[in-house]
Amino acid sequence: MKYLVTGGAGFIGSNLSRYLIKKGARVCVLDDLSTGLFENIRDLEHHKDFEFILDSILNFEILEKAVKKCNAIFHLAAAVGVEYIINNPLRSIEVNVQGTENVLKLANKYKKPVLLASTSEIYGKNEKDQLHEEDNRILGSTTISRWSYSNTKALDEFLALAYYREKKLPVVIVRLFNTTGPGQVGDYGMVVPRFIKQALLNKPITIYGNGKQTRCFTHVKDVVRALFDLLSDEKSAGKIFNVGNPEEVTIKELAEKVKKATGSTSEIIFIPYEKVMGPNFEDMKRRVPDIKKIGKQIGWKPTLNLDHIIKDIIEHQEKGE
Ligand code: UDP
Repeated sequence: MKYLVTGGAGFIGSNLSRYLIKKGARVCVLDDLSTGLFENIRDLEHHKDFEFILDSILNFEILEKAVKKCNAIFHLAAAVGVEYIINNPLRSIEVNVQGTENVLKLANKYKKPVLLASTSEIYGKNEKDQLHEEDNRILGSTTISRWSYSNTKALDEFLALAYYREKKLPVVIVRLFNTTGPGQVGDYGMVVPRFIKQALLNKPITIYGNGKQTRCFTHVKDVVRALFDLLSDEKSAGKIFNVGNPEEVTIKELAEKVKKATGSTSEIIFIPYEKVMGPNFEDMKRRVPDIKKIGKQIGWKPTLNLDHIIKDIIEHQEKGE
């Protein structure tokens, strides 16, 4: 079995590639290293079952060659990270819309099953407890760049569902809630590795806003298992699944947990959103997944809690990796 992993040099993609190789599969990664890092896949570079193509999903010809020679596709390539989206609005829209259009068009041409990585940003400002896959999307104005991400990924989902309905292309959609773990960098937001880095350096831990906003964090190990099992399950095609850990934490509690776990002397400080994100910024107050659907479909549930995640990232960062 040979998989194409677009965005395979990213944090989730590289963990997935390693998982696939361990399972005895062959992997071709296509990544332009815009937010991905070669460092993430360096250990796989010379593996006989691994191939790396340094290019963008916007390059149709290269993408076509890669799609042709694989059996199935994990489409993870996207512009991600709230800070990246805000700072690169044009590129983000182009990659997330045209890039996915290319992947789905070619997957359909060669009839290769696809897993499309989508996001919990889809739900926007819906603050309800346990967001279900059918819940409403509540979004802000188009003048607020953050919402472009939610919309580009929603368009990707519409497109994927249309290919499934009209062309019978087997495509499964996964809405990822905050995924984290060892090896994630805090350059584009990504609060957990960022707080841990600050704490280990005894530098201020920077909470944006009042810290009462909550998030649910999932270990990347749990996530890659979900991705693999979903693409392997033919009956999941045409469906959308939340993938996340419902354990909810405020960002202030997260800062305190990190400070305690690292034994850091860092001060916890509060920074107004506009200082980091500019004047037109909206954050979501809460984002909790309902994961009953994926549980019923493939029996998946997260196994690693937030304390475990924090411990794993601390160990990784202490080793200087
Ligand atoms: N955040 C923070 N300090 C940081 C980075 C992020 O307080 O240094 C907050 C951010 O405002 C958000 C939450 O942590 O409320 C999660 O941010 P992240 O960028 O990790 O993911 P998001 O859920 O926003 O996509």
